[in-house]
Amino acid sequence: SLTIGIVGLPNVGKSTLFNALTKNDVLAANYPFATIEPNVGVVGLPDERLTKLAEVFGSEKIIPAPVSFVDIAGLVRGASKGQGRGNAFLANIRDASAICQVVRAFSDPNVLHVDGKVSPADDIETINTELILADLQTVEKALPRLQKEAKLKKDRAPAVAAAEAAFKLLNDGTTLYAGAQAAGIDLELLAELHLLTVKPFLYVFNVDEAELGNAAFLDELRALVAPAEAIFMDAKIESELIDLPEDEAMELLESTGQTEPGLNQLIRVGFQTLGLQTYLTAGPKEARAWVIPIGATAPEAAGVIHSDFQRGFIKAEIVSYDDLIEAGSMSAAKSAGKVRMEGKDYTMKDGDVVEFRFNV
Ligand code: GDP
Repeated sequence: SLTIGIVGLPNVGKSTLFNALTKNDVLAANYPFATIEPNVGVVGLPDERLTKLAEVFGSEKIIPAPVSFVDIAGLVRGASKGQGRGNAFLANIRDASAICQVVRAFSDPNVLHVDGKVSPADDIETINTELILADLQTVEKALPRLQKEAKLKKDRAPAVAAAEAAFKLLNDGTTLYAGAQAAGIDLELLAELHLLTVKPFLYVFNVDEAELGNAAFLDELRALVAPAEAIFMDAKIESELIDLPEDEAMELLESTGQTEPGLNQLIRVGFQTLGLQTYLTAGPKEARAWVIPIGATAPEAAGVIHSDFQRGFIKAEIVSYDDLIEAGSMSAAKSAGKVRMEGKDYTMKDGDVVEFRFNV
């Protein structure tokens, strides 16, 4: 599933951020099929294009692309050695496609830090180490079984080699996401182990309001995690923004020197980290964004709406969002020759506005 797992040490602002994120739950009502558990939030990918599409088509409602977040509790220092609830966090984190670490960079002396001092670098190291240790344990446990299998079946030998190479890499303190490629490890061979550090990481730095405009400070934090993505916000401000009427929220944002809520950035960057894109559909009922992997073909895109659309796919009528908005309406875009008929080999592009033709 396409879920972003939120991790972080205790007292870094994880719950504050998660609650703010999911209070914004316009989507929950639109996705009745999604069983929403208390630690799972489905939020809408902010997308200005949908607002404009809805104007062009006179759509009654807007349905943004869903992005799921899961609040993963219990990943604390020593979890791999049984501290806290031990490895109980594993079950939740396995389902996540990317891992977002919330890092405390705010100074408030009234909020206790578990290790007694605010040190983003140390906190990042602590969480990284726990994830690496969890993977090391998984690989260590699997190796004897894999070796036994390889004795019976020659074609299992590459899996053993991959597991041994992964063990070495992890043991050197490197995540598989960062190091597997350079070490020549084929992660597909290890998919059955559901390793954690194969997932992309991104970072939210929870900073003091006053630091949001301090470029030098933010650059220092960014450097700690590069090339991973870093997002900066004041979780406390974010949770206040959610409760304000739009004009007051804008005022508060501007007073902190920002142009959009940090949560919006998080949702967008999280979505990008998952390697996804969206195409759009619009009509009088709704203007809607649909999620597809980068590289998806037109029939695959149709299948996201309904499997019948994929099975019976004939062709797709497509106009790029920019061309449509420039023309001002669908008929004007057609007259201008901007609307194309694409067949089953067409590779979808982000922002394609689509109508599928299909047999039922
Ligand atoms: P969690 O344990 O990581 O889920 O942390 P919480 O979200 O429960 O936050 C722990 C404490 O820090 C709470 O008292 C929050 O009000 C406070 N807190 C969270 N974010 C911020 C922030 O950005 N600035 C300040 N000053 N306090 C915060």
